[in-house]
Amino acid sequence: MNIICWVRSDFRLQDNHMLARAVELLNENPKATVEFVFWLNPDYIGEYEARQQYFFQALEMFSDACKEKEMPIRFIEGDEQAFLDATGDADVLLFNAEYVEPFKTRDEKIIKKRKDRQTERLLDRHLLHPHDIKKQDGKFYKVFTPYKNAFMKKDIPAPYEVKWQTLRDHYQKRQHDNSFINAYFKKAESEAVFYPGEKQAKQRLKKFIEQSLEDYEENRDLPAVDGTSLLSRYLRTGEISIRTVYAAVQEAKESKGKQTFITELIWREFYYMILMHFPESKRQAVNTQYREIEWEKDEEGFKAWCEGKTGYPIVDAAMRQLNQTGWMHNRLRMIVASFLTKDLLVDWQKGERYFQQKLVDYEAASNIGGWQWAASVGTDAVPYFRVFNPTTQSKKFDKDGAFIRKYVTEIKDLSKQYIHEPTAEQRKDYGYPEPIVAHDEARKRAIARFK
Ligand code: FAD
Repeated sequence: MNIICWVRSDFRLQDNHMLARAVELLNENPKATVEFVFWLNPDYIGEYEARQQYFFQALEMFSDACKEKEMPIRFIEGDEQAFLDATGDADVLLFNAEYVEPFKTRDEKIIKKRKDRQTERLLDRHLLHPHDIKKQDGKFYKVFTPYKNAFMKKDIPAPYEVKWQTLRDHYQKRQHDNSFINAYFKKAESEAVFYPGEKQAKQRLKKFIEQSLEDYEENRDLPAVDGTSLLSRYLRTGEISIRTVYAAVQEAKESKGKQTFITELIWREFYYMILMHFPESKRQAVNTQYREIEWEKDEEGFKAWCEGKTGYPIVDAAMRQLNQTGWMHNRLRMIVASFLTKDLLVDWQKGERYFQQKLVDYEAASNIGGWQWAASVGTDAVPYFRVFNPTTQSKKFDKDGAFIRKYVTEIKDLSKQYIHEPTAEQRKDYGYPEPIVAHDEARKRAIARFK
């Protein structure tokens, strides 16, 4: 029996459902062999710079870790047929499930084409399958709190133990030309953005639990403080498993921070479940009431927003953080999304796509969910009349202006009194733009439009 493990966005040797399943099969079939493959389809290479760089850095680290354990990955390049040809002799094909499009359809096609040969799609990226939680009437939840209550009553799978020595003992090394992948690795290396790797992810989790979890409730809203886990990029590439994170947090000392953090992990599950049930929500508001909103074209406003030149320091600092680092703090994601969709009345889909292009941790479900929440068009979203005031948010969450000073450097010398809202004269002196929109008027316009 020949088992192929199809590596995708699950770059880790520990707590990996696919690898644990391979070990199980090897134990049942001592003569079986195993091999890891990674398929690169050039059709899926888009323009998502930072995320792609990070992805290939993470893949290279994983590839090196596998080599070190004498289990080199075989890299395949080409279309679907190339993949099917290259894995044609697999009696068993294993992979961790991805239910988001276009990957869901791709996987289903592969399963169909392999006909009656064993192909297993395993739950790994999430704690529960999107169909695992249903209401009593069999329908799925659309409101978060009852979903969360139901989630808390479920048995959550424990981390999988992977005996990689068993994999190594059965590993089938093939002669294969892997050289094409080096070009991708090289490009990513030259523009390294973060600290990829399974080890780094684990260290980050440990540090967060030891130093920040207890105060997470208070600090998670302060962009100038290192108060959140920064695990999203590792979860995105599968360098850490969600089960490992969940289990480690469960073991931590009781605190309000711990409970709030668990709630955030459940939001991740919730949005995933919502996207499964509303696959069209990339292009359509989940709330049918708000599908016909007349959005403004405002190309200039959108450009200023993208570039961090709106004249609202907290919005601009946030957008510059995104453009420079490929990541943005959660509080700021809410502020800039509200600004774009309410103050500028620009369609949330434009913002969603911009985030897709820039975010290292882009997850379709969380991004669409977050944008529809902020734009008040999603399920269980913020009510349309609650429009964030960017200046008030700034004063509350970046009190001393430390975060603004870091990214909007042209006004870094302004005192805490003016940093959130410089005077006209100061804007002129420091070369910082006038606000592109007056918030109070924009707020009224947005409420009237939604009404
Ligand atoms: P922490 O605060 O440490 O949270 C831990 C983990 O919980 C995160 O890594 C993430 O997996 C999950 N999580 C936290 N908050 C949320 C949330 N509101 N919704 C879903 N999951 C959550 N998150 C993404 O992973 N990818 C995205 O593309 C994304 N786009 C967003 C767009 C908007 C407009 C908004 C408002 C939020 C978005 N989020 C997204 C959610 C959240 O902002 C990020 O998960 C978080 O900022 C990542 O940083 P962290 O790992 O330090 O988070």
